[in-house]
Amino acid sequence: MKWYEHVSDIADHNLVNVMWPSSSCDPIAADERAGLSSRLRCPLCKQKLESEKQAFSCSPCGRTYPVVLGIPDLRVYCDPYITVEQDHEKGRIVQAQAEHMSFAELLRFYWENVSLPPTPVDLREDFIRHVLSDETRVETFQQQLGDGKTCLDVGCGASSLVGLAQQKFDLVIGCDVAFRWLVLARKRLQEMGATANLVCCCADYLPFAAETFDLVTAISLLEHVRDARAVVRECGRVQGPGARLFVWMANRFSLAPEPHVGVWGVGFLPRRWMPGYVKWRRGLSYDKQYLLSCFELRRIFKNARYESLTFSLPRVTDADLKGRSRFEKLGARFFRLLSSIPVFRWFMIPISPALLVLAKKARDDASGP
Ligand SMILES: [Zn+2]
Repeated sequence: MKWYEHVSDIADHNLVNVMWPSSSCDPIAADERAGLSSRLRCPLCKQKLESEKQAFSCSPCGRTYPVVLGIPDLRVYCDPYITVEQDHEKGRIVQAQAEHMSFAELLRFYWENVSLPPTPVDLREDFIRHVLSDETRVETFQQQLGDGKTCLDVGCGASSLVGLAQQKFDLVIGCDVAFRWLVLARKRLQEMGATANLVCCCADYLPFAAETFDLVTAISLLEHVRDARAVVRECGRVQGPGARLFVWMANRFSLAPEPHVGVWGVGFLPRRWMPGYVKWRRGLSYDKQYLLSCFELRRIFKNARYESLTFSLPRVTDADLKGRSRFEKLGARFFRLLSSIPVFRWFMIPISPALLVLAKKARDDASGP
């Protein structure tokens, strides 16, 4: 029996953790499952959901949210480039391979066979390398995340942070708008020996009660959402007073190439010129990215009533240098050298390849702005 067929046999189909057949009879796993399902709410009205066979329903809204391959899908809208059905279908294709592939093989399978439109080979290899070295990257800022009871990783992608954060938090939930990526994430978490509490949802309509989490993280998320302000506000809603938000995002005014398309100088152009410039240089479309500067990001945080903002520089790891041109490697080493000198750090934040921010939700903020 495949694990996800097993799911439907469990009366309350207690979500994603049941994906490993052995966990369904493990009392600790049962507690963790209850931890996730008791925290899920309707993404629209934020009321409690009723559990049905292979779905959750919200009486006030009259909406039903399916559980597909054991993953609850609480999206209120989908990626504009792929329908919900196509996304589920891609998830099924990935899951069929997950039964006999390692995570690394599955990731390559995804980029080579499932991801559309086809990605240029050099960028594809870059993306694969980047995802496979995620853990090294997370370890460079893991100390900043602290510890606590509950952590939510919004836009978790392949989920290495969800796995690593389990060392410091009792319950870690990963959510992403891309269903297919959650299927990949689950494979990685299985290999890490970690629990996979995964939910498919929209970052600006989080399906959780207010003040649920001690820490919310958003890694490489804000540059891909349609409204970063709404996402930061929604992160604030699900955070307890004094809880932390950690953001990592590609910087608009980076001196390095734009990481999604590998083109230099994109961020320094007026926004309306960016798509034409990227099309001319690489023949790629540039409409899924909206990079912010550190000044814009600071304003968004302040408006969402976050306080004690701390910006820091990313640490360039050896994994980051792999596959780079000599010029890029030289630049990265120069960046590493300068960022080790305290007096330069402050000046480098506005032009750093990535912006890292740790902020605290104001304690008197009970209902948001
Ligand atoms: Zn509702």
